[in-house]
Amino acid sequence: MHDVIIVGAGAAGLGTAYYLRDSGLDVLVLESGPDIGGRSHTVKLAGTSANSGAMFVYKGTKSEELVHELGIETVPFLPETYGIHVNGETVVAETNEDVVAGLNLTDSEKTELIKFIGTSLTEYQDYVSDRTSAGQLDKLSGETVAERIADLQPAVRDIIATAIRGGAVGDPANLSAKYAMRYFASYLAREKNNRLFALEGMQAIPRAILKRLPDHTVRYNARVTGLTLLEGEGFNEVAVTGEDGGQKLTAKHVVLAVPAPVVPDVVQNLPEWKTSALKRVASPGSTTLNIVADIEGLPEFKDWAFIVTVGMPFDAIINPVPGGTEETSRANILQLTCYGNSAGYLPGFADDEQRVAQWLEDVYTVAPQLRGRVLGVHAQTWQHCFALLSPERAAILRELQRSIGSLHFAGDYTSETAGTHGAYTEAERVAALILASLQPTG
Ligand SMILES: Cc1cc2nc3c(=O)[nH]c(=O)nc-3n(C[C@H](O)[C@H](O)[C@H](O)COP(=O)(O)OP(=O)(O)OC[C@H]3O[C@@H](n4cnc5c(N)ncnc54)[C@H](O)[C@@H]3O)c2cc1C
Repeated sequence: MHDVIIVGAGAAGLGTAYYLRDSGLDVLVLESGPDIGGRSHTVKLAGTSANSGAMFVYKGTKSEELVHELGIETVPFLPETYGIHVNGETVVAETNEDVVAGLNLTDSEKTELIKFIGTSLTEYQDYVSDRTSAGQLDKLSGETVAERIADLQPAVRDIIATAIRGGAVGDPANLSAKYAMRYFASYLAREKNNRLFALEGMQAIPRAILKRLPDHTVRYNARVTGLTLLEGEGFNEVAVTGEDGGQKLTAKHVVLAVPAPVVPDVVQNLPEWKTSALKRVASPGSTTLNIVADIEGLPEFKDWAFIVTVGMPFDAIINPVPGGTEETSRANILQLTCYGNSAGYLPGFADDEQRVAQWLEDVYTVAPQLRGRVLGVHAQTWQHCFALLSPERAAILRELQRSIGSLHFAGDYTSETAGTHGAYTEAERVAALILASLQPTG
């Protein structure tokens, strides 16, 4: 009998174990895969640490708090440029006017695009300096991006929808304007104050957490296939399959820290209110291609930050370390990640050499100078990229969070935001719930 069993060793699962570390409770984390981190996954690529999943630590969030607490080295994301590739032309420039002026669009499309960019930036700057009224905020939360861009000319709409998919994942029809437009505008604003890049990659956070947990807290290759709520008995039974064969474990508390669509596969007898809340979480797939290239003699590439790529299988290319780092060993090394959020989940992508080669050809269409200079490529596909912050999810957040007795739910999908910061925040919430249940009542 364990005090706490946590299902999943991603940000939410390991985070919960971390926030319980001083409680004296016997905590076991069951992870279906061979490694920790879940969607915080970092690979070594041509000497760099490349993130195939979560990329940035957002400032002012739980993830930032953790990188400081855990002593993880970060550099700020310092974009100087913005770029768009459309109709065979790639334009990267320091001002939005220069980006739009160079594009292969009609004059009326250019005028509309620059107007839209201007409005988004004003709205964003008002938001970040607390000038947005509560009424305007409500309107933004209840409105989708699709509604916001419905009246634009098709070419302009395509650029904005692609930029939003590249940065914020998901279809404009599902994304709240409050969330996605801010994401979009933060890149346009060359926002230097809101993202950090962990030099050893995002997986450095769960790795550092693991070091602070007692040995053997995590059991690997242990997929949880069933969970029975033994009502009235004060404990839960967890069926596990794994390298050691099948096993039944019991715990006083169980924390489900798996993506929302996986929850019903693990617990078969969920009450109707929980199943219907889970069904309303959109957690679309995404495919990424990490590239490391030698850019000696091509210094302009160092300034690349966020390039919207219209008509490609990926929606955006991001350079997470614009300007490079101080290290001379990295001076001519460029790290790029192509985000195929509209490509969704492509099972088998990583092993599909032809398809990966095609994506690389598409990269050369956007950046022909990189041909012959690529030092390493990593392909990855995610079935559940992250839980979209849609108006629909915001409305049912309390049901998503609500525990069923001593069965608790934590993940990006139960958070007010999304991302690793959401998952770590939820880890802390659930750890506090468990600790509170141990306090004598009355
Ligand atoms: C391409 C991409 C870009 C992103 N960019 C950012 C970003 O810049 N910043 C940011 O903060 N976030 C970003 N995110 C989102 C972030 O990665 C996730 O929101 C967060 O990592 C989710 O953490 P989690 O613990 O909820 O889930 P996960 O990380 O998915 O962890 C769940 C764990 O449960 C395990 N598991 C699943 N089923 C079972 C089972 N039956 N039994 C046992 N174990 C199981 C999985 O193997 C996994 O390890 C990005 C994600 C992707 C994919």
